[in-house]
Amino acid sequence: MTNRPCWAEIDTKALAENYQTLRGLAPDEAECLAVVKANAYGHSLDLCAPALLDSGAGRGAGARWLGVTSAEEGIPARKLAPQARIYIMGGFFPGQAEAVVKHGLTPSVWTVQQLDELEEAARTAGSGKAGQGAESFPLHLEIDTGMSRQGVSLDELPGFLARFTPDSPLRIEALMTHLYASDESDHVKSDEQLARLEEVLGIVWAANPEAAAKIEFLSAGASAALIGGDAEAVAGLASRFGLKPMLRLGLGLYGVTSRFMPARESSAPPPLKPVLTWKTCVTSLREVPAGAEIGYNGTFIATEPMRLALLPVGYADGLDRRLGNRFSLLVRGALAPLVGRVSMDQSVIDVTEIEGVEVGDEVVILGSQAGNQGAGTVTVQDHADASGTIPWEVFTRIAARVERRAV
Ligand SMILES: *Cc1c(COP(=O)(O)O)cnc(C)c1O
Repeated sequence: MTNRPCWAEIDTKALAENYQTLRGLAPDEAECLAVVKANAYGHSLDLCAPALLDSGAGRGAGARWLGVTSAEEGIPARKLAPQARIYIMGGFFPGQAEAVVKHGLTPSVWTVQQLDELEEAARTAGSGKAGQGAESFPLHLEIDTGMSRQGVSLDELPGFLARFTPDSPLRIEALMTHLYASDESDHVKSDEQLARLEEVLGIVWAANPEAAAKIEFLSAGASAALIGGDAEAVAGLASRFGLKPMLRLGLGLYGVTSRFMPARESSAPPPLKPVLTWKTCVTSLREVPAGAEIGYNGTFIATEPMRLALLPVGYADGLDRRLGNRFSLLVRGALAPLVGRVSMDQSVIDVTEIEGVEVGDEVVILGSQAGNQGAGTVTVQDHADASGTIPWEVFTRIAARVERRAV
């Protein structure tokens, strides 16, 4: 059986190139972790993880670290990437520590309960017995430097550090924080966060030099930090403490430099390539007279005879319902307005002005198309602007039932 024609094409070569482009922009000593949470931002973990790990073919190293949000996401990532390091940025939940240890996942940790559970799981699994410093189980200690979301506060820090005794089965491999305003070009908030981070580093080195000596990474900064310049400050701070900076790159990998990640002054945005193209097909056509109502509640009334094309894509596929009557998709390379409301599983475009549209014509919902009526692009930012959200949400709302195909 063939599938309902509503699919996303994933250009894994573009993804691999984007990884290398961003890697080239990062400080040499930086570890660039590839963020593949939420099914690789809706792009398919199965297709993206191998492409990122292999992205080095002939051009330096591919990704060595993948970032997921949870243990549930980490386990399938581990199957795809037996050798990679897999970081769980959302930490883990009660009852998951054993699976975290068993699958060799590296969690963000910031609560005493997490420490308790992980210590027990690591001991049971036999790693990190007394004196086995190098074999102890690594974790990334998350610090709250201003986002108030997750992370150890400066007050709690000494209590945490006291837990990392020489015979602890656990080891702090990275100090991690999230820069929450790297897209702001004045860098004021990032500078404040980095100042707090510097204070934290001072506290760690003073309070527990033995544990501090085992730390390898200072993990701070997402795509916007790299593209906007905060990454250099992170690298400078890391090197003062003998650490390597770790950057956690998400949206940029998927080819997006939006206004949420303005390039640093005097440099052009990096040449990233779009990875995902969302497509459907015209499944039927009809002519309607002036006065015809289109879609639920007749929110669009034909002012003249019109030619309409039916598309098997609706809000249950992730096409935002707010786009009805205010957005256009591409057919034959020309923009065709969505008329009437977007339904759960279907929508209708106006093709009156577009010559030669036939049943079976490919329609681009998100991406570029060239055809006999022109050429155009509908970007993820266009979708985000029209539905009042951000590119991250547009990508991650493309539903599971939309098949992802490697191209
Ligand atoms: C999602 C996420 C990232 C990646 O962010 P992008 O802006 O998509 O590059 C980095 N760090 C953390 C903690 C995240 O949750």
